[in-house]
This record gives sequence, structure tokens and C-alpha cells, in this order.
Amino acid sequence: MLYWSNMKALVLEKKLQLSLRDIDLPKDVRANDVKIKMHTVGICGSDVHYYTHGKIGPFVVDKPMVLGHEGSGTVIEIGNNVSNLKVGDRVCIEPGVPDINSKEYIKGFYNLDPKLTFWATPPDHGCLTPEVVFPSNFVFKLPENVSYAEGAMIEPLAVGLQAAEKAKIIPGETALVMGCGPIGLVIALTALAGGCSKVFIADIVGKKLEMCKNYKNLIPIDLNKDNPAEIIKKNTNNWGANIIFEASGATKAYDVIFDSICPTGKVVIVGNPMNPIPMDFATLLTKEIEIKTVFRYAHQYERAINLLSSDKIDVKPMITDTVAFEDSIKAFERAAKNLPEDVKIQIQL
Ligand SMILES: [Zn+2]
Repeated sequence: MLYWSNMKALVLEKKLQLSLRDIDLPKDVRANDVKIKMHTVGICGSDVHYYTHGKIGPFVVDKPMVLGHEGSGTVIEIGNNVSNLKVGDRVCIEPGVPDINSKEYIKGFYNLDPKLTFWATPPDHGCLTPEVVFPSNFVFKLPENVSYAEGAMIEPLAVGLQAAEKAKIIPGETALVMGCGPIGLVIALTALAGGCSKVFIADIVGKKLEMCKNYKNLIPIDLNKDNPAEIIKKNTNNWGANIIFEASGATKAYDVIFDSICPTGKVVIVGNPMNPIPMDFATLLTKEIEIKTVFRYAHQYERAINLLSSDKIDVKPMITDTVAFEDSIKAFERAAKNLPEDVKIQIQL
């Protein structure tokens, strides 16, 4: 295989050590690949977690790794078999590529393929580098009215769509989202676009909830002073929320869930808890509650793009800062502080 020798990238050398330096990355554009000039890359909580902890669960950074998986850019070269894209197309990239011979891929839930490679998940490099080569099936053309910045939001938005699909939203239902970070927000916006009449969103950091003022029918619950179960009951004729999306990963969120959900309600778990969580199974049983879980997404990119293009979802208020590639180490140091006013920081190449 051929290698670039002079491609600058944002490299996580090891825990808490980043550098902007040249690194060897695959260069061959095979028959089904496209080469993309990267334009915008969002910083994700997982990138920051690799930076601050050097690992996420079983995925350990034991050699230098390029960060970044929320990307958009422009196609600059196409392989011989590529027919879905052409040079000059503005695109966003789905960062997880399954093995097409895996049973999970064949059955349609390719996100669960254990052999799936994913940008910036050890041992695979990410996209914080000026050019990448990628299989064209996982590269999606952006409509004219969707910017590169919005294109780089499709990756987190796809998680919101996966959660909404799992919830099987019925028009008019009420939902509660636990956790007002970027993922909680994209879930809430997708739930509204998907037919929920009202979505409540709860967090222990009151300042994060200020984002709600940008959105109609998105109602903040400050867990420091509000009682979520009471607010939900008051707003639902004492019935409870039809759907609860857990996007915080916090153990305490589960107490709120079982107090706030209606009989036969649906719980969709997206937040990855660090430790096992004790469950109130008695309440689960007596309310016949349905529990679904989400791991990344499958088949969501095209619909996520459609929702942005049709203005059913507006992610622009969530993009709270944009920094130059040269300043990306500083951007990561800031993201690691987890300031409540930073929702999504993006890097422009
Ligand atoms: Zn992400």
C-alpha cells in the first residue's frame, strides 16, 4: 500500500498528549473509494474522552491515533467503480464501515458488526487531517442548502434518528430527554421533528438548558430546582411521558425515568453508563414498560440530511464555536473543560 508521508493531522500520541504533525495514512483510491478534502470536523465527546482518559471501555489508545469522526468535505478524486458521487461534490461521511460479509451487515444492523471500523476508535485513525480516502457507499452528498458545518453535524444527528426510530414515535406523544448535551439535544430535535408534541429535556447543569430558547416546544427542566416527575405529570393530565430518552449515562437519571413514565411507556437508552445500574423492575413490570437501546446508528444518514435540508431540524444554534485547524490542540484543551456554554465546537481545515 502507498502512504502519504507529509499529511498533517491532529494526533493523539497518548493520554493527554496531542500534536499536530505529519503522519502516514493510506493514500490508495481503490475502485470503490473516493478521496475527500476535509472541510469541517466536529469535536465529539468520545474524541475528548480518548484525549483525557486514553480509552473508552475496551478501546484503548496504545499507539498514536488521528482524532475526529464528525466530518464534511469535498470529493477530489473517485475510484473506477464509483457512480454515486463525482469530483466537486460536497459531502458528509458516515465514519463506521462494516464488513459486508458479516451476519450483522446482511441482516441490516451493520452498526453492531464487531468487525466494523470506526474513525478515531482504536486502532483506526480519524479524519482531522486535510485529506481522507473512504468507501463511497458511506459518503453522502449534501444538498446546496446544507452547509459544511451542518454536514459535520449529521454524525451526531444520526444518533438522534436512531433513537427516534427505536422509540416508534406516534404523532402527538410527549417525550422526556435526560441530559442536555449535544446528543440529548439532537435526540430532542429529532423527537420533535418525528411527531412529538412536546419534548422536555432535563440536566443538572442549568446553563446548558439555555439552548432550549432556540427551539419551539422544547421545555427545560433544571434538575437542581425542578421536580421532573411533577412537571411531566402536570403537563400530561397526571399520566406521564410516553417516551423517555436516556442520554446522560448518569445512574440518578433512572430514578427520574421510572417516576415520570406513563403505563406502557417506552424507554430508549442512549447514554453509556460507566457502571452497572440497579433497576426498579417492580415499576417496570407494573407499568409494562418497553426498553430499547441504541448503539451508534444504521441507515440514518440520508434521512438526517433530508431533515436538515427541509428545515425540520435546525442544528445551527448548537454550533457554538468554530476554530482553525492550526488551533485544534487548544480547541481540545477547551473541550476537555466541558464548559456549559460550549455545545459543539467545530474545526475548519
Ligand atoms: Zn461523535
